[in-house]
Amino acid sequence: MTKATGWNLDNSYAELPDKFFSIIDPNPVVSPKLVVLNESVATSLGLNAEFLRDEDAVNVFAGNKLPEGGSSLAQAYAGHQFGYFNMLGDGRALMVGEQITPDGKRFDIQLKGSGRTPYSRGGDGRAALGPMLREYMVSEAMHALGIPTTRSLAVVTTGESIMRETALPGAIMTRVAASHLRVGTFEFASKWGTLDELKELADYSLKRHYPEVESDGNQYLNLLKKVIEQQAYLISKWQLVGFIHGVMNTDNMTISGETIDYGPCAFMDKYDPLTVFSSIDREGRYAYANQPRIAGWNLARFAETLLPLLHDEQEESVELAQEVLYGFSDLYHANYFRGMRSKLGLFNEEKEDQSLIEELLSLMTTYKADYTNTFRSLTLGEKEYSALFEAEDFKMWLNKWQERKARQSESIEESLQLMRNSNPAVIPRNHRVEEAIQAAENGDFSVLEKLHHVLSKPYDYLPEQEEYTQLPPETEGPYRTFCGT
Ligand code: AMP
Ligand code: MG
Repeated sequence: MTKATGWNLDNSYAELPDKFFSIIDPNPVVSPKLVVLNESVATSLGLNAEFLRDEDAVNVFAGNKLPEGGSSLAQAYAGHQFGYFNMLGDGRALMVGEQITPDGKRFDIQLKGSGRTPYSRGGDGRAALGPMLREYMVSEAMHALGIPTTRSLAVVTTGESIMRETALPGAIMTRVAASHLRVGTFEFASKWGTLDELKELADYSLKRHYPEVESDGNQYLNLLKKVIEQQAYLISKWQLVGFIHGVMNTDNMTISGETIDYGPCAFMDKYDPLTVFSSIDREGRYAYANQPRIAGWNLARFAETLLPLLHDEQEESVELAQEVLYGFSDLYHANYFRGMRSKLGLFNEEKEDQSLIEELLSLMTTYKADYTNTFRSLTLGEKEYSALFEAEDFKMWLNKWQERKARQSESIEESLQLMRNSNPAVIPRNHRVEEAIQAAENGDFSVLEKLHHVLSKPYDYLPEQEEYTQLPPETEGPYRTFCGT
């Protein structure tokens, strides 16, 4: 790899105690081929996209060689999966370094699907092309929607087949993240580390993500507060666009507040709070409506890991942690209702707003209205030919909403602009994502590129997006996503 590529790598994580990672070499693959490259991510990282298509760079994306200045490791972590505690770790991912960008930011560069590690348990350490493209597309769409998320730099196929229910083409995705520190990393430290090791992890997290936290005062309590604030913000953003993560295990919740690990995730079409997509979530633990509550549950697991750092007396620690945890729900609701008011073009706050919003959502549930398109139609002032828009009770709601808008001092234009900025014209609808993946699996990446392009400016209301607002054809059963391992 030549210097011209622009790698400027560090590996601060490797300075943590040894038990937090395993140094391992990449596992080479037979014949890597670059299938997707995200030039805008490359540029923002300070990389020269023109060199990233070279054989050398492709070998880096494939884990056949390390980028200049890089070093590879798999991170250790634990986590509560569907409520049960497990030792986990990067079972199929490799960190190859932290890129320092021209503006001084630090991002993990991680290869996902890069082969077995000491944490692979029974797994093969590999990933299939479909799920990697899915993560690529959905994470990039989330970024464009303005939602904190890990990003995707590239996908390569490996030239090897992997066995799932059938043989599938293997692939590796290069993921870019503010860090891969998870609630599960703290659970790991709390269970298997010493107090000093836990402290080192907490100090490292503070320095990396919350440098503004002063070192005097109870900085670990402040770490807890920050993570709670970020997650309350993140989950409200998910709810506002109808995103369902699907596997909100504690190992899939970041300390940075970015969305991570797009497995069986999907966007809701019809508004139904009970929507579950994941085929492995039989009990609906991670249903749309449960996401805020589950986030609170995960944050309680995080708080537990910090107890020894919060106060010398256990009882005092618990009290401190509880007080902050109780705040999560209020923070979340404040963010959510602020976002909902914006979706309805409302600038100020009135006492009755919550019931106005809840009434709309309840009508949307009754009339099985499409979540995104309902807000899109309200933004465009278009009447839809749907059960909702025909319904008398909805017409009454529309009147109430108009009256409410008339009571604010901002103009109609300002209100409409707020709605446009808050209601995406397009989201990555499942049938579109599947269509793009299928075409790609057959060697045609143009469908995916077009979709990526259309989703890159969701608030612009472009004519080319129109076609992507169409609903999926009615199917017999509910849409199901699979874990994507
Ligand atoms: P996830 O559900 O994708 O968050 O993964 C949960 C855990 O399983 C993580 O520790 C992963 O690294 C691990 N894992 C998932 N797929 C594989 C695989 N194919 N081989 C080895 N480990 C895996
Ligand atoms: Mg995970």
